[in-house]
Amino acid sequence: MTEKDLALAAGWIKNSRHTIALTGAGVSVDSGIPDFRSPGGLWSKYNPMEYAAIETFRSDPAKVWTMLTEMIDVLTTAIPNAGHKGLTDLESMGLLQGIVTQNIDNLHQFAGAKKVIEYHGNASSFTCMMCGESYEAESFRSKYEQGVNWPPKCGKCDHFLKPDIIFFGEAIPPEAAKESHDLALKSDLMLVVGTSAEVYPAAGLPAITRANGGRVIEINRMQTRLSGHGADLSLIGSSTQIIPRMVSMLSEQ
Ligand SMILES: [Zn+2]
Repeated sequence: MTEKDLALAAGWIKNSRHTIALTGAGVSVDSGIPDFRSPGGLWSKYNPMEYAAIETFRSDPAKVWTMLTEMIDVLTTAIPNAGHKGLTDLESMGLLQGIVTQNIDNLHQFAGAKKVIEYHGNASSFTCMMCGESYEAESFRSKYEQGVNWPPKCGKCDHFLKPDIIFFGEAIPPEAAKESHDLALKSDLMLVVGTSAEVYPAAGLPAITRANGGRVIEINRMQTRLSGHGADLSLIGSSTQIIPRMVSMLSEQ
């Protein structure tokens, strides 16, 4: 990535009318959450087609909870990094109108972002698949820490609870799907950060913005299928470094 490209991106952000960010696993890697798909990530140990499938949860929730407990171990130790904070800075400066995230780690919210649409749900609440009762994940913290009466069960009907994250075989929450589609339509600039934009329907959002004459800036550690095709500009590098540099460029102007 050249200084010229960075300045070009900053200029587009400054002059855009409505900018949103689409974020994925890459923004949270520097917070200590390895991309589940990467070597050594969660999916190298647990086959996601099995462990992240809603049918498996329905038939054998205890089995899926071995994977979920490891996932929660990773999520609970993570804190927002300079990339999350930089996006919040852009929002505070009035230069970013929303974040659509595929992450379930809450790190955008912890970094203070106001408008966050969670495409794949959130691990901070649990729901009983049997009776529909909802619980704050936090209320199970001591059980989790002590490993007693864990995995969590419903206080009403004793069924295993499910975190409110989207499993394979489950639909994207309709409100999140609609709101992000509307935002993509409305935007004249989309920052695609730390995601290879390969998993639909989130992967379709950059094309919606472009079809309406908007631009797409990709920020990723490596080239993706968007580079040179679905993106107008690709900044290759870590979002932890690139976004704060953009923020300081825009603050100086
Ligand atoms: Zn229940």
